[in-house]
Formats: sequence, C-alpha cells, structure tokens
Amino acid sequence: KLASREFHKSDSSVYVGKVKIGGGSLAMIAGPCAIEGYEVLDTIAKYVKAGGANILRGGAFKPRTSPYAFQGMGEDGLKILRDVGDKYDMPVVTEVMDPRQVDLVCRYADMLQIGARNMQNFDLLKECGKAMKPVLLKRGMSATVKDLLMSAEYVLSEGNKDVVLCERGVRSFEDSTRNMLDMSAVPNVKGQSHLPIIVDPSHATGRPDLIPSMCRASVAAGSDGIHVEVHNCPEKALSDGPQALLPHQFLDLMGDLRRLAVAL
Ligand code: PEP
Ligand code: MN
Repeated sequence: KLASREFHKSDSSVYVGKVKIGGGSLAMIAGPCAIEGYEVLDTIAKYVKAGGANILRGGAFKPRTSPYAFQGMGEDGLKILRDVGDKYDMPVVTEVMDPRQVDLVCRYADMLQIGARNMQNFDLLKECGKAMKPVLLKRGMSATVKDLLMSAEYVLSEGNKDVVLCERGVRSFEDSTRNMLDMSAVPNVKGQSHLPIIVDPSHATGRPDLIPSMCRASVAAGSDGIHVEVHNCPEKALSDGPQALLPHQFLDLMGDLRRLAVAL
C-alpha cells in the first residue's frame, strides 16, 4: 500500500508552497472557519501571521449541518483568500466538497482540504488524486484509522503523493466536547504510515478553553502541525464562532508551542 511504512520507510514530507510539513517541520495552519469578506480575513490573517502561522485557512464552500446556515462565499471567497494569502505571504488551504469544484479550487488554493464529512467521498478523493496540489485529508467523524489510511490510498493511487492527514476528533457519548480527540491517532498513524499527520483541536473539542492544551499535547505526541480556527470577533462569526480562538489567545498559544518544540 502506498501510504504504508513498508512502501516508504522514512517519514515523508509535503510542501505547500514554500512551507514544508513533516520530517521535523510543523504546519501551523490558522484562520477563520469561513471566509466572510476581505476586511475580516485581512484582519485575522494579519494576527495569525504575527503569531507565527505559516499557512492560512478559510472555507469558501462550507459543509453546514443545516441547509439554512451560511454556506460560504464560493468563488468570491476563494479570490479573497488568494489575495490575502499573497498579501501576507502565506500559502492557503480551503475545503473542496464536490469533484466538480476541484478545478476551480485549484485555481486559487495551494492545498485542497477534504473535510471529515467527505472523507469517504471516493469520487472526490480520486479527483483530488489527479490534481497537482497537496491534499489535507481530515478523518471522518466515525472513521477508523484504517479507514483514514484507505481514503489516503485513493488519493495516492491516482498519482498525487502529497497527502497530509488530520485528526479532528470522532463522535462519542461524551457531550461536553464537540467530538472526542483521539490523540493516539498520531503515533498510531505514524507507526503504520509515512504520511504527515496534524491535529485540529478546534473541531475536535469545540472549546477555546481546551484548544491550547490539546495543541501542546499534539506537538508532544509527535504531530506534524496543528490546525486552529481564529476569529477577531467570534460572536459575529458566520460559522463555528464558539470554538474560535481570539487573536491574543492564538499569540500566547504559538509562543507556548515554540517553547515546547525547542524543549522537545
Ligand atoms: C473545517 O475545517 O472548517 C471543517 C468543516 O472541518 P471538519 O471537516 O473537520 O468538520
Ligand atoms: Mn470550522
């Protein structure tokens, strides 16, 4: 299997623009859940860049539970993301939900995100496998580690070698957090696969009070990076406001992670 340790003995690394993920280099992916307009994204990007984020995130196509909730700005949002990413010299990652959107998203993004809800959308996986952009593949909310690795296999087997996995929590009986963060997925995946894996404590916990400690735990567990949502005004955010870190919280977190990375 192409994702397996047997196929590739050493850790692989993936480049997103000039940013290396894996092989000792950490991806610090941050930004709002959704692109809401130029001004808001510009403000958030300025803060996350100052904190030391090296990749900017933001959704233009949002997989919302309710069809009546904000669905994202579409191509207008992609244009804003590209402009702001260029302004702050950060490569950008954004979700693609449909195989028919892959070409469009590739025109603007440096990395294609496949969301938890689409981890087993096999046509989407194959289409991203044909694209010339790295892929951020998030674990499905009821997917096993084996399922995640088989989904990566769909992308790899189409010729795209640049896959980064993402643990973002799974559904459980615990209802005080949004999902249950499976921290063991990090060393578990690393034992079986050469692919980089990062952790998203924002969607895993849904709670800003838990995100910093879970980011530190991720780095300590061997994660190749973190993925966090930041918003300058969470109460006005159009999606996932309650889990967003404020800019100063993100700044503190990044300082802690830098000290931790040095200590490790
Ligand atoms: C997101 O990154 O905003 C998102 C929708 O994440 P997930 O697919 O992990 O729920
Ligand atoms: Mn989100």
